[in-house]
Amino acid sequence: MTASFIKSEDFPAFVTAMIEAGPVYGPVAKRSRFAFERLETPDELRLDYDVSILPPKKLFFPPTQDLIHFSGAGYEAALEPTEKILLGVHFYDVKAIDQTDLLFSERNYDINYMAHRQTTTIVASNVQNVSSRAFFATVGADVQPKGHDAFMTAFGYPAIGYGYVFEPRTEKGEALLEYGEFRPASEAQIREAADENAAVLEQCPEKLGYSTEEIAAKVRAAFGNDGMWAAMAADCFSCGTCNTVCPTCYCFDVHDTWNVDQTSGQRTRYWDGCLTEDFAKCSLGEGACENFRDERASRFRHRMMRKATYLNEKLGGPACVGCGRCSAGCTADIADPVRIIDQIMAS
Ligand code: SF4
Ligand code: SF4
Repeated sequence: MTASFIKSEDFPAFVTAMIEAGPVYGPVAKRSRFAFERLETPDELRLDYDVSILPPKKLFFPPTQDLIHFSGAGYEAALEPTEKILLGVHFYDVKAIDQTDLLFSERNYDINYMAHRQTTTIVASNVQNVSSRAFFATVGADVQPKGHDAFMTAFGYPAIGYGYVFEPRTEKGEALLEYGEFRPASEAQIREAADENAAVLEQCPEKLGYSTEEIAAKVRAAFGNDGMWAAMAADCFSCGTCNTVCPTCYCFDVHDTWNVDQTSGQRTRYWDGCLTEDFAKCSLGEGACENFRDERASRFRHRMMRKATYLNEKLGGPACVGCGRCSAGCTADIADPVRIIDQIMAS
């Protein structure tokens, strides 16, 4: 599919036309940070964001999601997916969406996730500002993002114009061209877009110094180093923030809630996180239970095993895309995968 170009001055009208056609979500400012929200006007869109507080997966896999409504007469799906456009997703978050697409569609096909996913057109955009703890350039670097419908790169130089190169990847992405004043992109503009996307990889403040395979082997071999895991987890509050903000975490819990009539209610799922104390607590029946990861160290270790080694074969790379959200979000500042991996590699 051929690349197009839209001038900066025509871009707000493009976004407005999409908003008028249906729901559009994109990064907006939340005080000094950013969040993916539904856009009311093009002015709200902040494609210069560094990283969003929560990843855009919340559009397909919300923190709280009713699955079914039931009554004495039976049940019905709570699912009401609507066609929507998700604008401005950074490439590392597209890679994370690719992972959740796989995990929610293999074996037990998750209709609740996939229905939202299939009704969303994703337009990725280049990283204009790099967040303070990002290391996306050196984690799973050979894994290419693929779940987006178009990729948009902003740049501006007098010789080639100020605006966006828009590269459709699917028919859904190409269909968006009808909303804006696009023209074919020149060779120079396409080259500049590629240069912009390559240059940002040099700006990550953090770097992994080892290959995916080296890390996977060493992390797995460190499983039995109890003293090391205990020391790393000593300051952990078990708050689960590192799970909650992670674009590749996908665990959830399911609760049934009964209405006062005791015959109707809803089944709801909630994000869950393996760092929280009761994540691995199982019922043994008759009021008894067992928590098979009741120590902080075992929960801390489990997260790193999942991110760096357990899922690699299935996903074709690590279950971490280097967004740095966990590093920035951890109150104790002990969740940074780069620091943890450096420590493990040195052990
Ligand atoms: S590592 Fe940090 S963010 Fe994660 S549960 Fe422990 S204290 Fe919370
Ligand atoms: S583990 Fe941390 S850096 Fe890696 S994808 Fe999750 S939140 Fe981002």
